[in-house]
Amino acid sequence: MYESDDREPAESLATADLLTERGSAAERKAARDCDPYDGASAFPESLEPDASETPRAAMVRVGVTVALVVGPFLGLVLAAWMAWGRNFTYTDLGLAVGLYVVTGLGITLGFHRGATHGSFRPKPPLKLALLVSGSLAFQGCLVDWVATHRRHHAFTDRPGDPHSPYRYGTGAWAQIRGLAFAHSGWLFRNDPTPPERYAPDVLADPMMVRVSGYFPALCVVSFLLPAVVGFAVSGSLHGALTAFIWAGLARVALLQHVTWSVNSLCHMVGERPYATRRFDRATDLWPLAVLSFGESWHNGHHSDPSCARHGRGRHQLDISASVIRGMERLGWMNNVRWPNADATARRATARTPEQ
Ligand SMILES: [Zn+2]
Ligand SMILES: [Zn+2]
Repeated sequence: MYESDDREPAESLATADLLTERGSAAERKAARDCDPYDGASAFPESLEPDASETPRAAMVRVGVTVALVVGPFLGLVLAAWMAWGRNFTYTDLGLAVGLYVVTGLGITLGFHRGATHGSFRPKPPLKLALLVSGSLAFQGCLVDWVATHRRHHAFTDRPGDPHSPYRYGTGAWAQIRGLAFAHSGWLFRNDPTPPERYAPDVLADPMMVRVSGYFPALCVVSFLLPAVVGFAVSGSLHGALTAFIWAGLARVALLQHVTWSVNSLCHMVGERPYATRRFDRATDLWPLAVLSFGESWHNGHHSDPSCARHGRGRHQLDISASVIRGMERLGWMNNVRWPNADATARRATARTPEQ
C-alpha cells in the first residue's frame, strides 16, 4: 500500500464487508443488527478452517511453523543460559542489537506502517531496504503478513479476526486460552488469508512480490549473516556459533515475541484512551513501548490505523515515528500521514460503542 491513496485499510479490501468501515451509517447499523456476535461469546464454529487440506500437507505446514517458532525460542533459552556463564562477546551483543533494530524497523516501518497501512511513501531504495529488513524477521513473507494484518483490522476482536484473544469467549479460562492463541497458537491453524482479497495492491507491486518470493532465502541470510561475521571477527567456529545463537536465534525469538505480544497482550491488558470500532479492544501498553519501537501504543493505532504515529499522547515514546520523522526530513519519504490534533482530541473523548 506504499503507492496508496487516501483510503483506510479496511476500505481498500476488494470485497466489501458491511461490518467493517464500509457502507453508509444505516447500512452498518443494519449489518450490526443482524450480526449474531455479542462481544462476549466464543466465535462460532462455522469459522473453523477449511478441512480440505490433506494430512501430509498439514504435517508439512505444522512442521515448518514449529521450526520457525520453536527453534528461535530454544535459542533464546540457550542464550539466557550462556549469559549466566558469560559465554558471549561484545561482537555477539552488538550484532544482536544491530540486527534487532534493523529487522524491528523493517517490520514496523516496512511491513506495518508502510506496506499495510500506507502511512508514508518511501523512495524506492528505502522501500526495498525496509521490505528486505522486515523479511529477515521470520514473521512470514510480506504478502501474507500484510493480508493477515489487514484482516485483523477489518474484523478486530470479532469472528473473522485471525488472532483475537477473545476467540474462546470472555470467561477466565477462555481468556487464558485466548491469550495463548492470539500470541502464537493462531500460527498453527489452517486459516490462510487470501491476498487477492486483502492485499491486491501488494500483488500488483513487482518489488513487493519479488521481495516476498525471496522470503525463504532471506531467512537463511538472517541466520547465516551473524555466523559469518562472528567467524570473521573471532576467527573461530566457536565465535561463529555464539554469534549465531545470540544474533541469529535469540534476536529472532525476542522480536517475534514482542510482535506477537502486540497481538495478544495489547488486546487484553492496558489503557484504552481512544475510541475504536465496535468490539475492538486494542490497548496502549507502556512496558512494551521501547522494545516494540512504539507498536504497543496499539489503542492509538486502532483508533486511526493509517496514521504514521501510533503513540498519540505527548509522552508516548514512539521510536518508529521518530525514525519516520528523520527520514522525512532527509527527503527519503513523503506523503507522511501525521496525526491531526483535532481528530485525536475527538477520538479521546468519543466512546467506543457497545463495549
Ligand atoms: Zn491489533
Ligand atoms: Zn495495523
